[in-house]
Amino acid sequence: MNLQKLILTKNDCYKAGRKIKPRGIMVHSTGANNPYLRRYVGPDDGLLGHNPYNNHWNQPRPDGQQKCVHAFIGKLKNGTIATYQTLPWDHRGWHAGGKANDTHIGFEICEDSLTDRNYFNAVYREAVELCAYLCQQFGLTEKDIICHSEGAKMGIASKHADVMHWFPKHGKNMDTFRAEVKKELEKLKGGATVTEKNVPSSWAKEAWEWAKKEGLLDGTRPKDGLTREEFAVVLKRLVDKK
Ligand SMILES: [Zn+2]
Repeated sequence: MNLQKLILTKNDCYKAGRKIKPRGIMVHSTGANNPYLRRYVGPDDGLLGHNPYNNHWNQPRPDGQQKCVHAFIGKLKNGTIATYQTLPWDHRGWHAGGKANDTHIGFEICEDSLTDRNYFNAVYREAVELCAYLCQQFGLTEKDIICHSEGAKMGIASKHADVMHWFPKHGKNMDTFRAEVKKELEKLKGGATVTEKNVPSSWAKEAWEWAKKEGLLDGTRPKDGLTREEFAVVLKRLVDKK
C-alpha cells in the first residue's frame, strides 16, 4: 500500500467535526470513468497532478453535494496506484447516505472504464491492504467489511450498486475480497504490522522532506533501494539546479 495523506479540510464534512468509533468499513467506487486521484483529491501535492477544473472534493460541497469519504484509491499523475487518506479515520464521514455514517469508515475506489484488468487488480489489491491496515488499527475483522450495495440491503446505506457492478466483471466479489483481507490479517498476526510504505523513518524525515521539496526525489517509496541509474538522475537534478 502506498498510503498518502491529504485531509479535505475545506469540505463541510470535515468542518462538521463529528467523531465516530469505527465499527466497520464500507467499500465504495466512484461511478465515473476517471481513475485519477486528482479528480477527487487536491490541491496538487506534486504527486497527484493538477486538476484544471478544480472540482476535487477539498471544497465545502463538491459537485454541489454534501459528501466526503475517509480515503480514495486511484492513480497518481505518474500512473502508479496510491491511497489518499482524506479524513481522520475516526471522523464521521458522509459516504453512506444512511446510518452507516455513524459506524463505518468509507473509502472510494476510482473507477475507470471497468474493463481494464490490470488497473482493477492493482486497486483491488490496494483496497485489501488498506482494509487490513484499518482492521489492525481499530480491532476489526474481515467480517466487518461491506460494500455500499450490501449496506443498502442491510438498510444502513442509500440504494447504490457499488462495488458489485464492477468486481464480478473481473471474477471477484465482496466474499473474495473479505477472504483476501482475512489472509492478509493472518499474515500480520505473526507480529508484523502493515507498514506505511510512504512514511520515512524519524531520523530521515527532515532530509526526506527537503529532497522532496527541492525536487530531487519524487517523495515516494522512502524504504526502497536506490539503483545506480536512479542515483545518476538525482545527481543530475542536483547539478542542474546549481
Ligand atoms: Zn457508494
